[in-house]
Amino acid sequence: MASNNYSHLLSPLDLGFTTLRNRVMMGSMHTGLEDRFYNYVKLAAYFRERAKGGVGLIVTGGISPNRQGWLLPFGGTLNSAADVWNHRIVTQAVHEEGGKIVMQILHSGRYGYQPFVVSASSKKSPISLFKPRALSERGIQSTIRDYVRCAELARKAGYDGVEIMGSEGYLLNQFLCARTNLRTDRWGGSIENRMRLPVEIVKQVRARVGPNFIIMYRHSVLDLVEGGNSWDEVVQVAQALEKVGVTIFNTGIGWHEARVPTIVTSVPRAAFASVAARLRKAVKVPVAASNRINMPDEAEALIASGDVDMVSMARPFLADAQWVNKVAQGRVDEINTCIACNQACLDHTFANKRASCLVNPRAGYETELVYRPATKRRRVAVVGAGPAGLSAATVAAECGHEVTLFDSSDRVGGQFNVAMQVPGKEEFAQTLRYFTRRLQVTGVKVMLKQRVTREQLLAQAFDEIIVATGIVPRKPSIPGIDHPKVLSYLDVLERRVKPGKRVAIIGAGGIGFDVGEFLLHDPKIELPLPLEHWCHEWGVDLTAQTNGGLVPAVPAHPFRQVYLLQRKQGKPGAGLGKTSGWVHRAVLQRNGVEMLAGVEYQCIDDAGLHISIDGIARVLEVDHIVLCAGQEPLAELMPDSGSQAASGTPQFHCIGGAALASELDAKRAIREGAVLAASL
Ligand code: NAP
Ligand code: SF4
Repeated sequence: MASNNYSHLLSPLDLGFTTLRNRVMMGSMHTGLEDRFYNYVKLAAYFRERAKGGVGLIVTGGISPNRQGWLLPFGGTLNSAADVWNHRIVTQAVHEEGGKIVMQILHSGRYGYQPFVVSASSKKSPISLFKPRALSERGIQSTIRDYVRCAELARKAGYDGVEIMGSEGYLLNQFLCARTNLRTDRWGGSIENRMRLPVEIVKQVRARVGPNFIIMYRHSVLDLVEGGNSWDEVVQVAQALEKVGVTIFNTGIGWHEARVPTIVTSVPRAAFASVAARLRKAVKVPVAASNRINMPDEAEALIASGDVDMVSMARPFLADAQWVNKVAQGRVDEINTCIACNQACLDHTFANKRASCLVNPRAGYETELVYRPATKRRRVAVVGAGPAGLSAATVAAECGHEVTLFDSSDRVGGQFNVAMQVPGKEEFAQTLRYFTRRLQVTGVKVMLKQRVTREQLLAQAFDEIIVATGIVPRKPSIPGIDHPKVLSYLDVLERRVKPGKRVAIIGAGGIGFDVGEFLLHDPKIELPLPLEHWCHEWGVDLTAQTNGGLVPAVPAHPFRQVYLLQRKQGKPGAGLGKTSGWVHRAVLQRNGVEMLAGVEYQCIDDAGLHISIDGIARVLEVDHIVLCAGQEPLAELMPDSGSQAASGTPQFHCIGGAALASELDAKRAIREGAVLAASL
């Protein structure tokens, strides 16, 4: 139940020399726009919307202090006075909206995808291509100077401060931990030596920028890797940094190479806030909690209890620039919630594409995808209330068109209703809540349980007809496919049938993995998973007594025996998102799922599923076989090309799965709906 009192979250934070208007920080998210000077106008528009939306403090994406620190070749760098002008476009936009902004200084160390990488020692990371060069004494001194110059240039560019990135396994974290710091000089060995670099950087930056400039330090409070720091070391480092001039501690959880998920949707909300709360007891300056905080009730509770002083949220501000204003105006039910899917933000970043947001395709495209008031109000029919149809209907109505949305079902949401049944995907219900409310706010006329025909649509004199009727699951032609053992994934996820204890899944795409997780879950265990249970599953000790917070995981108790099959060779799940696919694979592996590639399906009969792999026959003696073999488009409402309806009025448009089922994808569907509606 949402509260309507967010007074603690919305209260100002006095830092002595400056005051933040509330306790909400937009954490750093690399958009890709910061890497090219010609994109700074777009970057400024992106931040302007967030500042206008009321956020207290914005942190930019990572900017490198030098070439060695690039995450990607030619990544955003601030090391010369010439760069200051571009950054001024950004700071001015934020200040005009009453916001404050700090620039993150990020040296990627051995995580850089480029050949100049350096680190504490010459030890390659398991997730990058390039082996780093160990910094020499001279190299360390010049790196410190680069940080100082970068901070000074940020001050000149009008930033209210800098965030020094010390977490997620980047350079400073690499110096801090014995895992990556094998040095025997004064920069390695004891924790006093390992923390010398970050301490020296903060000390010298403070000396250069003076007292009235925010130095936020993103501190790794739980490394979640073997050879990570213990809690006592985390505190010792924080206290030393505080002494030399840190204004605020932001907290970081887990290195990028950690094999524990820290931000995907299956991580319980605010899972790591207790770690930030413990840091707050150990230092005097404000501390911010981060990771998987996306809605105001959790955020308000954390501030009200005094556990932390601020909450840092990065992705939720891609999903909704107006997050803070909506909270302040009692419109929490209108928040477009980040569902932690990573599909359009981090997965894009790691593919070197501009970051956006699955639920808000305007993120990062503020100057390009604009929902302008329509010059002529049209009568628009949208058929299908799945992700594509909801997006098209609400954007068209927002632009001022008269919109009617039809769906044959008795509820809106389409495939979102299915996705939210999967353990760990409960957040998808938030997107449905958002769109349901948005339909009311924008005044869309919703006609449920209406299977309309083309003739009925034509009779109603619409100007535009948007066909977003989605997909039908593919039924592969395998002998015995109509056997009673065979179920569709919809039968399973919509709980129309209860599968037996041994199940084979045909198709190892996103839906095959989802069905696998659904089948493995013991229905007696509450969802979303309680935090304690989640920590046991992943082997996390939030008190971080040793080893960066890692402890042995509790053995899994799968509810069913599951096989996951695909015809192609190669690793099942290879097509899943880069930042979330490994989590799904790990869950299935831990639960003993047999994943088979290169499968030929022979037939299905009472004995089970007959397959062969490399010519060797095998019978999977299963109770049920679930089809997750992809989709076929459902677009029968579209006129045949050449018919009268295809060329005249109304105009027909086809979007989402109905247009291209082979890449059925909520990200594409929502974007297509919004782009089309904005163009009407
Ligand atoms: P998909 O990813 O295209 O996977 C379809 C699977 O069916 C493949 O493993 C394919 O492998 C198999 N297949 C295709 N034709 C077949 C046939 N005739 N007979 C037997 N097997 C066949 O589709 P999906 O799983 O339905 O997912 C659809 C979309 O939903 C994805 O594109 C994704 O964007 C989204 N999604 C993502 C996630 C996630 O990332 N976690 C979760 C859910 C949905 P073989 O051809 O090798 O057999
Ligand atoms: Fe959140 Fe997904 Fe949007 Fe990223 S793409 S901001 S994870 S909803």
